[in-house]
Amino acid sequence: MRQSNMLIPTLREVPKEAEIASHQLLLKAGYIRKLASGVYNFLPLGKRVLRNLEKIVREEMDRAGAQEIQMPSLQPAELWETSGRWDTMGLELMRLNDRHERPFALGATHEEVVTSLIRDEINSYKKLPLTVYQIQTKYRDEKRPRFGLLRGREFLMKDAYSFHEDFDSLDETYDQLFNAYKRVFERCGLNFRAVIADSGAMGGKDTHEFMVLSDVGEDTIAYSDTSEYAANVEMAPVVTQYEPRNEEQKPLEKVETPNAKTMQEVADYLGHSLAEGMKAIMFKVDERLVLVVTRGDHEVNDVKVKNLFDAGIVELATEQETLDAIGAGFGSLGPINVEETVEVIADQAVKSLVNATCGANENGYHFKNVNPDRDFEVSQYADLRFIEEGDPSPDGQGTIQFAKGIEVGHVFKLGSLYADKLGASFLNQQGRSQNYVMGCYGIGVTRTLAAVVEQYHDDHGMFWPDSLVPFDVHIINLNAKKEEQVEVAEQVYEQLQSKGFDVLYDDRQERAGVKFNDSDLIGVTHRVTIGKRAHEGYVEYKHRKTGEQQDIHIDELVDFLK
Ligand code: ATP
Ligand code: MG
Ligand code: MG
Ligand code: MG
Repeated sequence: MRQSNMLIPTLREVPKEAEIASHQLLLKAGYIRKLASGVYNFLPLGKRVLRNLEKIVREEMDRAGAQEIQMPSLQPAELWETSGRWDTMGLELMRLNDRHERPFALGATHEEVVTSLIRDEINSYKKLPLTVYQIQTKYRDEKRPRFGLLRGREFLMKDAYSFHEDFDSLDETYDQLFNAYKRVFERCGLNFRAVIADSGAMGGKDTHEFMVLSDVGEDTIAYSDTSEYAANVEMAPVVTQYEPRNEEQKPLEKVETPNAKTMQEVADYLGHSLAEGMKAIMFKVDERLVLVVTRGDHEVNDVKVKNLFDAGIVELATEQETLDAIGAGFGSLGPINVEETVEVIADQAVKSLVNATCGANENGYHFKNVNPDRDFEVSQYADLRFIEEGDPSPDGQGTIQFAKGIEVGHVFKLGSLYADKLGASFLNQQGRSQNYVMGCYGIGVTRTLAAVVEQYHDDHGMFWPDSLVPFDVHIINLNAKKEEQVEVAEQVYEQLQSKGFDVLYDDRQERAGVKFNDSDLIGVTHRVTIGKRAHEGYVEYKHRKTGEQQDIHIDELVDFLK
C-alpha cells in the first residue's frame, strides 16, 4: 500500500495522559485514536495487527474444537436480573433503555446470553460437550479506564463457554483450552505465565489467569524460580510459614452443604430475606463455622477475607455466634451501595477488629476492600508472615519471586452456577433432567495487542513479532523527486507484491529523516530503502529490531526476504 494515501497520522508529541509505552506508541505511530475515555478507533495499522491477532486466536480456538458464533451486545435486562448480576455488576454494567423504556445492558460478558441460548437449543447429552466462542466487543464502565487499550471501556474480547454433563468432561475441555491459550500467547511472542487465580468464594473450582510479565501490570504474581508454581498474590497463600496461634487451629476447609452454598439458600435456611446477588460461603474449622458474605463482583475480596481467617487474624465464630451474627447482619444491610463492598459476618472479634482497624460502620459488619497491611497493621500479630520474595514456594520447590503481570487471559471452571440461575438443563444418559456444568474462557484481544507493544519496543518505537506485524516489508523511497529512484522503488514495490509480500511503500514527498523516524515508529520488521545506489540496482536493507544493515541487489531481494 502506498503510504501517501494511507491513514497513518504519526505524531511528534503524545498527549500527557498516555503514561505507558504501549499507549504512547500506538497513538504516536498512528495505530489508534481516542474517541472518549477508554474508547478507541483502530486506524489501518492497528486494524491490521488486530486482524493478525484474531486469526491466531481463531486458529487455536478452532483447533481446540470450539465453534465460532456471535452473540448480541444489546442484552435485555431480564436476563441479567435472572442471574442476579443486574444488581451485583453495579456501575460497571452499561445500561440503557429502548424507546419503550425497556431496560437493556451492553454486554460486559456473555454467560447469561450463552446459557439461555444453549438452554433453548440443546436438550440432550448427545450434543455434549460443546464449546462456543466469539470475538466481540465488550462494554465495561471501568472506574479508571487507563493505559490506552490495557483498560478500556469498550474493548475486544474472545470469550468462550463450554457445556458439560459432568466435571470430568469440563476438566478435559479446560485442559484443552488452557493449552490453546498457551499457544495463542506463544504465537504472539509474549513472555507470560499461567497463574493460579482467584475463583472467588462462590465461583467454580479451578481458575487460571494468563499474565504477561510487565512492570506496568496491575497484578502481582508470586512464582517459584525453579518450578511451575505461579499464583496471583491475591491467591497465593498469605502465610507460608504460619505457626498457628493455638495448636488446635486447623486449616480452613470449605463446607459443601446446601445451606452454605448460596446466600439465598442460607437465607431460606434461616428464614431471612435478602437482596439479590449476595453470595456467602461457610468455612468450617473443627466444629466452628464462619460465614463470609459478599456482594458485588469483587470476589477477590472473599479470598482476602479467607486469607484473614487462614492467617488467624480473625477469630473464628461458633456456629451459634455466626447464626446470631447473620440475624443481626441481615437486619443491618438495608439498601447499600454495594460497589466494592465486602461484608463479613462473624463474631464479635471480627467486629471489634474491623471497627478498630478498618473504620467500618456502627454495625461492624461492613468493610471495604479488606487488605491486610494496608487496612491495618499486620505487624501487631507477631505470628503472621505474609508471602514474600525469597520464601520457599508452597509446592516445596524453589523460592518465591514477585513480578508484575498484565492479565491477558482467564480460564474458569464455572460449575453449574449460571445453569442453575437460568434453569439450563438437558436430559442426561440416564434420561434424567440435569443442569449443565460450564466453563468460561476469556482473552482480552485488544489488551493483548497492547501487552505485545509493552514487550516489543525501544526508544525509537515499536517492533513486532512476525505473527502480528502489520506489513511484511516497508519500502522507503529516499528521494521522491529523483526519477531514477522512483522507478526502482516502483519496480521493487511491484515485485515484492507479486511475490505475495504485504508491502507498505513510503512514496511520500517527505524528508528522509521524517521517513526513517516514522518507519522506526511503525515497526515493520524489514525495511528496504531505495537510495543512492539505486542506479546500480542496490537497495539498503535494515532489520527493525536488530539494526542489522546491508546493501542487497534487487535481484536477490525476494530470496533474502523469504
Ligand atoms: P481485570 O482484572 O483487568 O479488570 P477481569 O478479571 O475483570 O480483568 P475478565 O472478566 O476475566 O476480566 O475478562 C477476560 C479478559 O478480558 C481479561 O483477562 C482481560 O484480558 C480482558 N479485559 C477485562 N477487562 C478489560 C478492559 N477493561 N479492557 C481491556 N481488556 C479487558
Ligand atoms: Mg475487571
Ligand atoms: Mg482480573
Ligand atoms: Mg479475570
